Amino acid sequence: MPLHVDTPLIESRPLSLAAGRRIWLKLDALQPPGSFKLRGIGRACEAHHARGAARFITSSGGNAGLAVAYAGRRLGVPVLVVVPETTTETAMALLQREGAEVVVHGASWQEANALAQSKVGSSDAYIHPFDDPLLWDGHASMIDEVVGAGLVPGAVVLSVGGGGLLCGVAEGMRRHGWDHAPIVAVETDGAASLAAALGAGQPVTLDAITSVATSLGAKRICDRAWQWTRERAIQSVVVPDQTALAACERFLADHRILVEPACGASLALAYDAHEALAPFASVLIIACGGATASLDQIRRWSARGPS
Ligand SMILES: *Cc1c(COP(=O)(O)O)cnc(C)c1O
Repeated sequence: MPLHVDTPLIESRPLSLAAGRRIWLKLDALQPPGSFKLRGIGRACEAHHARGAARFITSSGGNAGLAVAYAGRRLGVPVLVVVPETTTETAMALLQREGAEVVVHGASWQEANALAQSKVGSSDAYIHPFDDPLLWDGHASMIDEVVGAGLVPGAVVLSVGGGGLLCGVAEGMRRHGWDHAPIVAVETDGAASLAAALGAGQPVTLDAITSVATSLGAKRICDRAWQWTRERAIQSVVVPDQTALAACERFLADHRILVEPACGASLALAYDAHEALAPFASVLIIACGGATASLDQIRRWSARGPS
């Protein structure tokens, strides 16, 4: 039995009015650990568990780490999460609440990840946050659910970090013959690794992540995500942090769900009636969620103003 839940698919009146077209939301913010990540990570953890993995190890202090911790607790498998010193108190508390062992190491994710990798024994399973076919297969289940509900949108809007969500949604859309419908792939300024790859004609590594949307903060997209840009229509859109943050506030008021700016970035396209949506009568937005930013934090970032 999968670890994730089937999530609601709703037509949003406030977002539809703002966008001037029908906006459907796949509410993956309602997964128990707070983001879509549980779909793919739950799928991977179940597969490793079936093969007898004694421990799950990951290096994400964000939603991927939370999903691994949740999956481990549900499956009865111990979890080790090595996180960098930059990890927020909120994320640390959430990881500990799921019963994971948390080790803080290094100034950046690279150092935390190196230690995590060095601790992977022969009976352990290392769980990558986005670059794994098992993850993509799990993420694709959200499209299966949309198809089951009978919706065929003109386009799908989603946020891009390392590109795992993009790979999963593209895979699900292919499975159901939706290759004709474009994917609108949204990033924030300072975390735009997909836009940089498209500009360069190949995946490139960003020097630094400067966006508050830390869940989009992969410096380089995975190779499969790049391949999808060669195989189907993917339109890249980059929005400022402040636009993503404003969307978080409006979404909380409209739908009473708090999401990270990583998700607000996608919602902002509807709120701002972005021209990328103009060709489509109906649009599906993946409300990917995110549990690591409190409302206080979102308001502190907003108060900082444009950088
Ligand atoms: C991980 C994450 C993303 C980006 O997903 P990728 O698979 O890394 O592209 C977007 N939003 C939220 C809330 C996330 O946790």
